[in-house]
Amino acid sequence: MNYELLREFCIFRNIDMRFNEPMSMHTSLKIGGPADVVLFPDEHSLPELIKTLTKEGIPYIVIGGGTNILVKDRGIDGAVIFMLKMNNITLNAERLTLNAEAGCSLQKIINLCIEHGLSGMEGLAGIPGSVGGAVAGNAGSFGCEIRDVIKSISLLMPDGSQKKLSAKDIVFGYRKAHVPSGSIILSAVLSLKKDEPFEIKKRFIEFINEKKSRQPVSKPSAGCVFKNQKDIAAGKLIDDAGCKGMRVGDIEVSEMHANFFINTGKGTADDFLKLMDIVGKKVKDKFGIVLEPEIRILGR
Ligand SMILES: Cc1cc2nc3c(=O)[nH]c(=O)nc-3n(C[C@H](O)[C@H](O)[C@H](O)COP(=O)(O)OP(=O)(O)OC[C@H]3O[C@@H](n4cnc5c(N)ncnc54)[C@H](O)[C@@H]3O)c2cc1C
Repeated sequence: MNYELLREFCIFRNIDMRFNEPMSMHTSLKIGGPADVVLFPDEHSLPELIKTLTKEGIPYIVIGGGTNILVKDRGIDGAVIFMLKMNNITLNAERLTLNAEAGCSLQKIINLCIEHGLSGMEGLAGIPGSVGGAVAGNAGSFGCEIRDVIKSISLLMPDGSQKKLSAKDIVFGYRKAHVPSGSIILSAVLSLKKDEPFEIKKRFIEFINEKKSRQPVSKPSAGCVFKNQKDIAAGKLIDDAGCKGMRVGDIEVSEMHANFFINTGKGTADDFLKLMDIVGKKVKDKFGIVLEPEIRILGR
């Protein structure tokens, strides 16, 4: 791969870049080998950057907060694009809509909604990461999913063109939004309802407290490791298969919530994957159910 042209382009367009950057610095699990190059474009430089990467044949992936990914120890081939500089929020109080760029923190939006008496997002209280990541994974909790409030999204296509999709044109699944392959979510318009700030905040605090009492939110994890089954939580299956507290190296099945695997120190992706394998086999042996990963596993 020819990184020289990419380097020149990034210097010319003033895009922050770092070569051989450990991904452990950018994931909530604090795990991940080096990416060939990480890039921090803004909304103006992103389309040309994508065209350059496509032209040079450099593969790329997009990352928001890095809170739902396991990056392998050998790192990532090609470029990792961070969306964090694209974090503008525009509120339309009359229409009860909010346009959020993909790099915005989900929690920042919820706080803004509370402040302006806009309801609909509070069920996503405490979910870390970005709007782009939440849309890509149709993030949800407490019976609420981000799809419930999406009016439309804007996408950047691999050829550098942009496309707008309204909610009815997006197929959402369990922890998945089906967007065109290779596209990047640039922003989302959210449609909300008017309510009293006090009432919204009350619900928000209830959800946050419940989350804190059930999940090890302050420990390094990537959220739920496996998808829930139709009518039974993966955490319950893992717990009932006797896996709570199981360890491989420094990776541990949380005692608090069995579907969270914690990095207790110097855990590696290899250890994490081995533990997933062991837990998956235990659940399969006991219940005949094959668990599917919810976290995204990336890397070479
Ligand atoms: C303590 C904790 C609690 C959690 N609780 C929940 C919960 O209750 N419910 C829940 O659903 N999740 C939960 N999660 C998981 C995670 O926070 C969410 O899935 C979150 O929405 C991921 O956002 P992110 O920006 O960190 O995505 P990342 O981890 O950065 O990326 C996740 C995926 O989205 C893709 N992606 C990111 N941004 C874009 C973009 N702009 N365009 C296209 N693709 C993109 C990435 O390529 C990757 O495949 C939790 C995680 C932790 C650590």
